[in-house]
Amino acid sequence: MRLAVLAAVVLATPALALAQAVPSPTPGAKPQDTEVYTPVPPVVTPGATPTAPPSDAIVLFDGKDLSQWVNTKDKAPAGWTVSKGLMVVEKKAGNIETKKSFKNYQLHLEWRVPKDVTGTGQGRGNSGVFLASTGPADAGYELQIMDSYNNPTYVNGQAASIYKQSAPLVNAMRPDGEWQTYDIVWTAPTFAADGAVKSPARVTAFHNGALVQNDYVLTGETLYIGKPYYKPYTSAPIKLQAHGDPSPPLSFRNIWVRELP
Ligand code: MG
Repeated sequence: MRLAVLAAVVLATPALALAQAVPSPTPGAKPQDTEVYTPVPPVVTPGATPTAPPSDAIVLFDGKDLSQWVNTKDKAPAGWTVSKGLMVVEKKAGNIETKKSFKNYQLHLEWRVPKDVTGTGQGRGNSGVFLASTGPADAGYELQIMDSYNNPTYVNGQAASIYKQSAPLVNAMRPDGEWQTYDIVWTAPTFAADGAVKSPARVTAFHNGALVQNDYVLTGETLYIGKPYYKPYTSAPIKLQAHGDPSPPLSFRNIWVRELP
């Protein structure tokens, strides 16, 4: 009996402690004490559809031209093609990146693996969006783009992974020939004057509306070989990958970005 009483007291104690931790309101406190009126959030006109750019977005591709993009390797006008309102990867031209550099932002982009794509694993429909392009070729932080519809590969390299760091929470892939959406929130890393990491990069991402990266904290740039590490930068272009595999090229449309504080 004594044991049972003791157990009851032990079990009840945490709840009791929690109840006691709730503070009572300060005498004389008013509702107005906790109401904030400034600064007022800026008014933004939403896009006509959930995927159309809000009024404060920078449109990076709207089907017309590649004026916002350059080749990563030589900064010449982007060598990908525009056809029927779509941006199509030109593998010979290599990666392309935005003329403008960014720090923190919200990014929307739509991509499509061609119908009846060929290849397997990483060699099927591979591209990628580098959330910060910190140098030539594949330097930076890649959110993987590839065909992950019934196409197994290492899970931290499938579509919507932070390449070789973080597998997506779910596989929300539509089949080849259908459009996919990415909605991404990127918080850039910050660095001290001596190059030490002050705050790491973080990413939240949705693939076709499903949460795939939930405030994931990166351990550095995404590397093909070796362990990730950070390289100081202040702002960087957004880069799209022309992957070297022989499968037919992907298309992109409707790309816009909203800079964040
Ligand atoms: Mg890739």
